[in-house]
Amino acid sequence: MGMLSQSSRFLGWAGMVAVSCGTLSPWAAAIAYDAPVRETLIELALETPLTSMETQVIRQALRILPPAHYQSLRQLEVRDEPTMQPRGRANSSTIILNNTDIASEDELFSVLLHELGHILDLGYLTGSSGEITAFAYGSQPVRSDDPSYDYYRISWAGNTTQLPTARPADFVSGYAASMTFEDFAESYHMYITHQGRFVSLAAQNPALAAKYTFLRDRVFDGYQYADASTGPYPDAVYDTTLLSLDWKRFIQRQQSLPTERALTAVPLHITMSEDDDNPSV
Ligand SMILES: [Zn+2]
Repeated sequence: MGMLSQSSRFLGWAGMVAVSCGTLSPWAAAIAYDAPVRETLIELALETPLTSMETQVIRQALRILPPAHYQSLRQLEVRDEPTMQPRGRANSSTIILNNTDIASEDELFSVLLHELGHILDLGYLTGSSGEITAFAYGSQPVRSDDPSYDYYRISWAGNTTQLPTARPADFVSGYAASMTFEDFAESYHMYITHQGRFVSLAAQNPALAAKYTFLRDRVFDGYQYADASTGPYPDAVYDTTLLSLDWKRFIQRQQSLPTERALTAVPLHITMSEDDDNPSV
């Protein structure tokens, strides 16, 4: 029990903001990936044992991502909290999944990918030397050299202030329109699992086209996923993690991903930790 032991790789948010990402090239990071290092990166804190299905969902969701995307993830908790609590929360280094209100393994897959979008956005896509912008994560200002800044600026003037020109159709969901960080996480999830829908929406909307292009070119280095959707799509979407998909079929279609060989065996450690800084989004 207790804190993680792996020293200087894990500096928490205060340390992470000092890390300069430079040009994001996640697939390059994937190629350079070294399996023994991966073992230290993720620890699961469990109140109750995971079912084998939950373990599979977590392993496979990580497996289809460039490892750089969850480089800052150091703890993943699965809880059985009271109903009506958020199904997932994340900061730059911790994900907490609340299984109580997650209805299916497909939904668990989607919620986890949404939270991993926060991990990438807050923990890996960071700036250090740029000017202070109108955006902030907690007490930490977003710097202009933070790659996410270019995404936020598509629709936002500040964390929760949309640009005067923004319209509901500029967001992949109602939840995405609630704040910058949710906009990023919702689009990240949409890009991975609902590629076809995102492409068709982007063809009709310049803001969504800019968001799609940002994700494709700067986050996924041009990689486009197979489509996980089982459709049809409702006219109005509040939460992309509730859109129907088939996660198992989707994973089967992703077997040829360049990260495949790097993530064949993801060790899962069981620990408890008090480190809970600001898991709010
Ligand atoms: Zn979120």
